[in-house]
Amino acid sequence: MNIHEYQGKALLSQYGVPIQRGLLATTPDEAVHAATLMQEQTGTGWWVVKAQVHAGGRGKGGGIKLAKSLDQVQELSSQILGMQLVTPQTGAVGKKVHSVLITEDVYAPGPTPIQEFYLSVLLDRAKGGFVMVYSPEGGMDIEEVAEKHPEKIYREWIDPTIGFQAYQARRVALNLGLKGQAFKQMVVFCQKLVQAFEGVEASLFEINPVLKTSDDRILAVDAKVNIDDNALMRVPEIASMHDPREEDPTELKAASFNLNYVKLDGNVGCMVNGAGLAMATMDMIQLSGGSPANFLDVGGTASAERVAQAFNIILEDPNVRAILVNIFGGIVRCDRVANGIVEACKSLGDLRVPLIVRLQGTNATEAKAILEASGLPIRAAITLEDAAKAVSDSLKA
Ligand code: GDP
Ligand code: MN
Repeated sequence: MNIHEYQGKALLSQYGVPIQRGLLATTPDEAVHAATLMQEQTGTGWWVVKAQVHAGGRGKGGGIKLAKSLDQVQELSSQILGMQLVTPQTGAVGKKVHSVLITEDVYAPGPTPIQEFYLSVLLDRAKGGFVMVYSPEGGMDIEEVAEKHPEKIYREWIDPTIGFQAYQARRVALNLGLKGQAFKQMVVFCQKLVQAFEGVEASLFEINPVLKTSDDRILAVDAKVNIDDNALMRVPEIASMHDPREEDPTELKAASFNLNYVKLDGNVGCMVNGAGLAMATMDMIQLSGGSPANFLDVGGTASAERVAQAFNIILEDPNVRAILVNIFGGIVRCDRVANGIVEACKSLGDLRVPLIVRLQGTNATEAKAILEASGLPIRAAITLEDAAKAVSDSLKA
């Protein structure tokens, strides 16, 4: 589960990780009020207005602006609130901005030059542990750094049995080129960051940039936090940070029906029982010249109601030009599934696209007969080859 920057920073702060402070606002007036409070608390006279959406690259998309007066806070907040923010990570449609974080400006010049670093903690599945990935080249696209200057990306693996060691934190500070007070602060920053990562059951913390201020403090300026969905029941206060406005509406609807649905950008909708078979079906669609419009695992129960819900979800996608149902009748009998499909089709009326149904397993032959006798424009198949051919025929038609 993804959370917003302001929520991620609140979690970091709870664990003692120093952050660029801010207050949330949902209207321009609230933003001005927040800026006034920020000024009282931090003495700042410049503020940053930061769009809160689940996507990075907000700065590039115009969702992060520096305000040098309260009037500018008002003006920039009214520009950013309600805008459809397009960043390199949102896709062309962008994301609607419902709130802004008004932060102190922490880039003020001072005795030493400011520096931006990249620092993340994530799961390394291959090594069975966590890894801290960091670079002195922060603030910008880390993918670009990885491509052009891979030698500037460092890794520190964390052994889960002994945890993150102090010498590792010192190595991070050293590789980032820090000295004196900033070095010490970075060591503590890394240690607390790992504690926070483990404490909130995260699967990703990406802090870009981590800032060394001109008075040698180390602060988290950004916070991209992803929480492990499977651990949400252990952290209910974090589960409640879920913001459904950030999710794809069709995926939310599918989740409410307990359907395992992921939208993709192809043209063949598919409905399958079992995740493995769903993956294989998507491959098959690709091989037959189409591309999958979605991943959809309906699970073990393929009742008429469930099939109808699944069809509705698939048909919400205007790119869908054919639907392939691929169900293996092991526990559930194919003839029952066939009856379910026929009933669902009748209740939905015109499906608008060709429907190809492959039922294999217990009573597959009876199922094919039921589909063919239904009088509905369903192309029934038993073998995968048959189904694949039907898919490619319907795309050519
Ligand atoms: P992202 O673009 O979504 O990654 O959002 P960030 O929170 O990382 O902010 C983007 C950029 O805004 C940073 O890399 C900084 O260059 C800039 N920025 C953030 N906070 C401040 C600030 O306090 N003062 C100034 N001058 N710039 C800031
Ligand atoms: Mn960032």
